[in-house]
Amino acid sequence: MLLDPFKRKINYLRISVTDRCNLRCRYCMPEEGISLISHADILTYEELLRIVRVFAKEGISKVRLTGGEPLVRKGVVEFISSLSQIEQIKDLSLTTNGILLKEFAQPLKKAGLKRVNISLDSLKREKFHQITRKDGFERVWEGIEEALQVGLSPVKINMVAIRGMNDDEIESFAKLTFHFPLTVRFIEYMPAGNGEEWKESHLLTIPQIKTRLENMGKLITLLPDQWDGPAKRFRLEGSIGEIGLIGAVSSHFCSDCNRLRLTADGKIRTCLFSDEEMDLREILRKGGSDLDLKEQLIIALGKKPARQQIDTQFKKCQRNMSAIGG
Ligand code: SAM
Repeated sequence: MLLDPFKRKINYLRISVTDRCNLRCRYCMPEEGISLISHADILTYEELLRIVRVFAKEGISKVRLTGGEPLVRKGVVEFISSLSQIEQIKDLSLTTNGILLKEFAQPLKKAGLKRVNISLDSLKREKFHQITRKDGFERVWEGIEEALQVGLSPVKINMVAIRGMNDDEIESFAKLTFHFPLTVRFIEYMPAGNGEEWKESHLLTIPQIKTRLENMGKLITLLPDQWDGPAKRFRLEGSIGEIGLIGAVSSHFCSDCNRLRLTADGKIRTCLFSDEEMDLREILRKGGSDLDLKEQLIIALGKKPARQQIDTQFKKCQRNMSAIGG
């Protein structure tokens, strides 16, 4: 079992498989994109598999692939298939913007993916375009339908709620749970990233969102389940789906944090908001042993901060969210 200095059990690794993305969400990336990690510096799938195998022996049992956009990296389905064969990995998931999900949902399911989170910030075609700078709402929606159709479960939609951008759509998103067996999760806009600058006035807090949901009907509290991480779970009476609320800014959930992140170029980050990174790529490429990788993991764990340092101050991470793996 992996324990950090604050006795938190660490069993979850989020891997950014690429820093490339096929959208340009305003709050995440500038329109021209960001300076990209060179191909040579990105870990190969073989390198990633080696890391996961070593970490899995130490206690990592949950792996999520993210990015950038994980589905733009060639060979990701085969990579998932290899990951799904690692005995200790009990939970394998993916976070995607959904643009390529329609064609990937079936192969991903076959490869052993259990569940998927889809980031979607608007249900309106024009607004989607305005936020992401790409015209793709229909494709994402078809991807969501396909994910449900092929039996990925649960299918979660993550909506970052930003005042003045999409705060008029809270109720429309919640209503989806009456028609589809989806988990709709509302996420506070975090003061991080490299997009258009964060302002406190853009923050729509989880308590504010919850009040709006309560005005729609009876909001039933559900018990935490093993897959929900920091989300608080609810269901609107009469619905077939679920609602999750993630207060990344207003309510810190650091005391329950069970995660580590691995960047596409092979650095361990112990917290989204800590810029301290531990390099694994050098160990891999200089002929280091599995024991060396394990030792680096233990050193990284020792550096995991007690809590994140953000509140409502804009925190400019050295890296963009898309390179860390949001
Ligand atoms: N491309 C994939 C996707 O769209 O899900 C994975 C990477 S993306 C960086 C992961 C998530 O980070 C998305 O849901 C995005 O909305 C979220 N994100 C990016 N910047 C954020 C911010 N400042 N506050 C909250 N969420 C943010």
